[in-house]
Amino acid sequence: MAEKKKFQAIKGTRDLLPPETELWNRVEHTAREVFGTFGFGEIRPPIFEKTRLFERAVGSETDIVSKEMFNWVDDPDLSGAITKIRTEIRDTKTLPAVDGTAARAMLEKQARMGAFNNLAERVRVALRPEATASVCRAYIEHEMHALPQPVKLWYTGPMFRRERPQKGRYRQFYQIGAEVLEMVPSFAAKDAASAGGAKSAPKDAAVDAEVIEMVMAFFARLGLEGVKLEINSIGDRECRPKYVELLRAELLKVKDKLGPDSQRRIETNPLRVLDSKLESEQGIIAGLPKIADHLCANCAAQYAEVKRQLGMRGVAYAENWRLVRGLDYYMRTTFEITAQGLGSQNAVCGGGRYDGLVELLGGPPTKGIGFAIGEDRLILSLQEAGKGGAALGRDVFVAWMGEKAQATAIAAAQKLRAAGFRVELPPVEQKFGKALGQADKLGARYALILGDDEIVTGQWTVKTLASGEQRTVAAEDIVAFLRGEIEQQK
Ligand code: ATP
Ligand code: MG
Repeated sequence: MAEKKKFQAIKGTRDLLPPETELWNRVEHTAREVFGTFGFGEIRPPIFEKTRLFERAVGSETDIVSKEMFNWVDDPDLSGAITKIRTEIRDTKTLPAVDGTAARAMLEKQARMGAFNNLAERVRVALRPEATASVCRAYIEHEMHALPQPVKLWYTGPMFRRERPQKGRYRQFYQIGAEVLEMVPSFAAKDAASAGGAKSAPKDAAVDAEVIEMVMAFFARLGLEGVKLEINSIGDRECRPKYVELLRAELLKVKDKLGPDSQRRIETNPLRVLDSKLESEQGIIAGLPKIADHLCANCAAQYAEVKRQLGMRGVAYAENWRLVRGLDYYMRTTFEITAQGLGSQNAVCGGGRYDGLVELLGGPPTKGIGFAIGEDRLILSLQEAGKGGAALGRDVFVAWMGEKAQATAIAAAQKLRAAGFRVELPPVEQKFGKALGQADKLGARYALILGDDEIVTGQWTVKTLASGEQRTVAAEDIVAFLRGEIEQQK
C-alpha cells in the first residue's frame, strides 16, 4: 500500500504549542501592561494590505520589498479590470487610422502594457512584512490627527517575509511594536522653532527617549538578559542626502575591494553597506566617513538631547555610527537592541524616527517614532536563559468513583473553575490509584478525592501530591481551603 504522505507546516512557519504558548501569552500580556502604563492603546490592523502601501512606505529598494514580500494579484478585482483593458484595447483600435500596421500594433501593445501595469498596481496585495505602514495608513484613514496628539498605539501579530529560514529567522514571525504619531502644522515652522531655542529641550528627543525607555522597561519586566541598546542618528532630509553622496563617492573609490552585495548597494542604498557583516569589508568600512561628523546643526542638537534624555531616565546605551536600519523611512534617531543566547540573529528590537512618512502616504505633516520587537527571538532568549516557564500544570485533579460521586465531582469542578483554579475532571470513573497516577503525570498539585464516603459525609479528602499528605475538608470550605494553601506556598 502506498505510504500516506504526511502534511507538514511550510518551511519557515511553525506551530507554537503548549507549554511554550504560555510564555508567548505572558510576554504579550506584559507588553499590554507595560505599554498601558505609558498610555499606549492597542491597534489591530489587517494582515494584508495593498502592495503599494509597503512599496511606498518601506521603500522599493529595501530587501524587504524587493525580495521578501509575499504578494499576489487579488482575483475578483482582476476580472473587472480585465474587462476594462479589453475596452481600452478596443478603443485603441477605433482610433483614427495610424500609419502602417507596425505602428498600430505598437500602439496597441503600449495600451495593453500600460493598462496591465496600472491594473497590477491596483490589485496587488501583500502579506504585511511589518506593521508601521499599516499603522500610518490607519492613522490617515481614521483621521486620528483630529484626536488629542500624540496618538500612541501598540500592536502584536504575525509578519511575513520570504527569507531563508534559520534559528531566529522565519517566514512567518511575530512582532510586538509601538508607534507615536503627532500631526504638526508644518515641519518648517516646527524645526525653526526648536532650532531657535537651543536651550529649550527639544520635545522630539524626549519622546524618542521615552519610547526607548518603555522598551527597556518591558524587557526588564520580562527578565530578559544581556540586553544591549545601541543608538545612532542618521540625519534628516537636509543633511542625510549630502552624507549619502559623500559615502557613495568614498565607496566608489574602494569598489573593487567590496563584495557583490555592497557593490550593488553603492548605487541603490549606500547606507546599507555600513550594515555589512562581511569580514573582508570590516576594515574598509571602519575608514568611511561617519555620519555623526556630518549632521546638520538641528540633527546634532536633537541627537545630543536624546542622549541627555536617556541619561536622565537611567537608560544605558552605546553609540554605533554604523547602525542604519533597513527601512527607507527612518530619520534622525535610530536604535537597535540585542539580547543574549541568539547567535548571529541577536537583534530583538529595531526602531527609529520617521517624520514625514504619514505625509508620504497622503496624510497631513506628521512626526513619528516607533519600534518593532521580534517576539520569536525575545522568546528564544528567555528560554535560553531558563525563563521559559513550566508546563501548564493543574491545581486540582478531581478523582471520583461511583455514579453519585460524578455529580458531586462535576459540581466541585464548576465551583473550583469559577474560582480560577485549573481543574482536571476525568470524563469516566477511574480507580483511585490510576487517577492519582494521572494527576501526578499532569503535574497537579492537589487531588480532590470523591468516593462514597465523601459523598455521604460531605467531608472531602484533599491530597497534596508532592508530600502525600491527606486532609479532610468540609465541602463548603473547599475553595477557601485551597486558596489558603496556594497563597501559603507563594
Ligand atoms: P535582521 O537584520 O535581523 O534581518 P531587520 O532589520 O530585517 O532584522 P526589522 O525589520 O527592523 O528587522 O524588524 C524588527 C525585528 O523583527 C528584528 O530586530 C528581529 O528581532 C525581528 N525579525 C525581523 N525579521 C525576522 C524574521 N524573519 N524572523 C524572526 N524575527 C525577525
Ligand atoms: Mg531582515
